[in-house]
Amino acid sequence: MTEFTTTVYYDDDADRSHIDSKTVAILGYGSQGHAHAQNLAESGVDVVVGLRPGSSSRAAAREDGLRVASPAEAAAEGDIVSILVPDTVQPAVFEEIRDGLEAGDTLQFAHGFNIHYSQIEPPEDVDVTLVAPKSPGHLVRRNYENDEGTPGLIAVYQDTTGEAKDEALAYAHGIGCTRAGVIETTFREETETDLFGEQAVLCGGVTSLVKQGYETLVDAGYSPEMAYFECLNELKLIVDLMYEGGLGEMWDSVSDTAEFGGLTRGDRIVDEHSRERMEEVLEEVQDGTFAREWILENQAGRPSYNQLKDAEESHGIEEVGRPLRDLFAWNDGDDEETEKAEA
Ligand code: NAD
Ligand code: MG
Ligand code: MG
Ligand code: MG
Ligand code: MG
Repeated sequence: MTEFTTTVYYDDDADRSHIDSKTVAILGYGSQGHAHAQNLAESGVDVVVGLRPGSSSRAAAREDGLRVASPAEAAAEGDIVSILVPDTVQPAVFEEIRDGLEAGDTLQFAHGFNIHYSQIEPPEDVDVTLVAPKSPGHLVRRNYENDEGTPGLIAVYQDTTGEAKDEALAYAHGIGCTRAGVIETTFREETETDLFGEQAVLCGGVTSLVKQGYETLVDAGYSPEMAYFECLNELKLIVDLMYEGGLGEMWDSVSDTAEFGGLTRGDRIVDEHSRERMEEVLEEVQDGTFAREWILENQAGRPSYNQLKDAEESHGIEEVGRPLRDLFAWNDGDDEETEKAEA
């Protein structure tokens, strides 16, 4: 048995009696919403999807055989209300549904942002839990259909019934997460590690590394196409190896030359300065600076966000990448398209 520093829960640890006679309201039918709703329904749980009257997702949910109501109606009916709309619209949706929450109901999230940064202040007599699959929704759905699981997290912020954790585990069972393993965390840890990871490494760090590498080659006179392949396209092969077998499998699979070059040069590129910047970024997550910035940005209509997004889209690596990717019939980079279509 593998030794973990934390407890991992599997199917046998979940007691489905904590959810089987309850109604789950799923608010939102996007990436996570469609997967939670369909997986729970197929697991035999009563599900109602809460969507605004004009929402284009209403038809999709009905086609998938699910019952649809307004968010307020669904929440009033639900014993467990799972908030799966975008984080930035959750506070407004919460105002619409709060009157439908009864003592002993559960308000459930898939990310801790709004609770941790006090953007939603839940009534004192409801349970507040988190069940967060560590995958985009289309994989949560696909894995379930293939009798496989998706690893996930659970957390309890408020436990008024004494059953909050058992119910979260039962929900995690219903969407297939306990098949793969579920780790218990806290709202604080989930929120802060998620934000740090996406800012410093996954989304922010990686894209900056890719762009700087690309620009260095192009500025030195190499062709943009070559720079694109070396600095962006091949990243997938490297990441796949790390995903399968950690850093070791990647180092074992590349040439000795690549291994020696990487081991001697990597820490010169991402060095102690980057490490200090990472600590700064972590502090901004911990002390609420980032959350405040993002909340104000949304209130102002996202001026910086839109400007940065435009600049990113017109970067040379994007201009050269679009036609290049079209050359590859085998390119399965349309996962995102699939996800959007499903959403
Ligand atoms: P999403 O953007 O894919 O879907 C949002 C859905 O909410 C839409 O399809 C629509 O049905 C509804 N919606 C959109 N705008 C709305 C509005 N203004 N008012 C009411 N309803 C609206 O969202 P998502 O990515 O599934 O995120 C849901 C939650 O899951 C978030 O808390 C997110 O952090 C968390 N989460 C997401 C992922 C992921 O991979 N996408 C992974 C783990 C956790
Ligand atoms: Mg209710
Ligand atoms: Mg994450
Ligand atoms: Mg995130
Ligand atoms: Mg090479």
